[in-house]
Amino acid sequence: SKSMLFYCREGYEADLAAELEQVSANQHLYGYSKFVPHNAMVQFHFYESLSTKQQFESFALDDCIFARQRLCVIGSVELTDAADRISSIVDYLKNNTELSQHSLGDIFAEHADHEKGKEVAKFCKKFTVPLRQALRKEGWLSSKPNSGLPFIHFVFSDSSECTIAFSYPKNRHSQPLGISRLKFPNDAPSRSTLKLEEAIQLFMSPAQQSLCLQKGMTAVDLGACPGGWTYQLVSRGIHVEAVDNGAMAETLMATGLVSYQAADGFKYQPVDGHVDWLVCDMIEKPERVAELMTHWLCDRKATSTIFNLKLPMKQRFQIVAGLIANITNTLNERQIKHQLRAKHLYHDRDEITVMILTGAHLLE
Ligand code: SAM
Repeated sequence: SKSMLFYCREGYEADLAAELEQVSANQHLYGYSKFVPHNAMVQFHFYESLSTKQQFESFALDDCIFARQRLCVIGSVELTDAADRISSIVDYLKNNTELSQHSLGDIFAEHADHEKGKEVAKFCKKFTVPLRQALRKEGWLSSKPNSGLPFIHFVFSDSSECTIAFSYPKNRHSQPLGISRLKFPNDAPSRSTLKLEEAIQLFMSPAQQSLCLQKGMTAVDLGACPGGWTYQLVSRGIHVEAVDNGAMAETLMATGLVSYQAADGFKYQPVDGHVDWLVCDMIEKPERVAELMTHWLCDRKATSTIFNLKLPMKQRFQIVAGLIANITNTLNERQIKHQLRAKHLYHDRDEITVMILTGAHLLE
């Protein structure tokens, strides 16, 4: 493959492009980003073809804040014969890939996640079934979806052209368009609850979740009202000190797991001096929030943290990367072993979500 395709939120193409150029330079992989503004994707072209290992490992999706999905491009096919698009695709694959029996774990017919993409979405939905049948007939597709195998992605800009790409286990998002679809829990007090839910699912393996989010643990939620984030913690049996001047949902107070604290989040101290979790969704300058989170970890007031950083209007990648580098440097200077994850989540708008684990929450 000589290029990779990444998905992002519409309007964030330039940020992702800048990030990819930095990540590639760090890995000594040379090339350049290309995108159409508002197309919700960025293509990265390499000057030299990638080795198989590089196709699997370079540009770790987990390390790319603004990327939702990471695909290795095989090429593009024109589907001029509307009556038989399938044959054009099968022929293309026969000539351009070495697919052996059952080497693919799943297929996705996809489109960019933006307004115009929604028209193509209907076509993709209809086209998936015949496409899947055709690949199965060739013996390329496993009989059941298998997440241990590469997936094939057909990315349509319209019904007459598609880019074909592979994604690989451990370095991809396993859902269509790299989007974590989550069901809004009816009894949650705000939509924001999905941000914390998505962060937990995306950043932590099931093993890490059972280690780090246990019944009886304690948390502080800064800027908690009306309680969407607190809801996620309480539903896991965690005791929460909810800090905000606003009002918390009655249903949460009734659980007996929440203690309401009308205080300034920048001054608040945990009742017992320490909690397992600090979460923070205050709408504030990202510099201030990053500094506050760092202090809580350095002073051992919290073991781990999940928080949002509101994004500035310009130079969003550069500014966020700088803030994260500051946090990492400070923790390293203090010799605090940690694991940091940062992502522009599907449920985030003009903000990113960061998780930092330390101490007993680190696996291995
Ligand atoms: N995470 C909440 C949820 O899921 O329902 C939503 C939080 S809302 C985006 C931001 C909250 O931060 C507001 O309720 C606001 O009152 C609070 N806030 C802003 N600045 C604060 C401060 N300095 N101290 C405490 N709370 C603050």
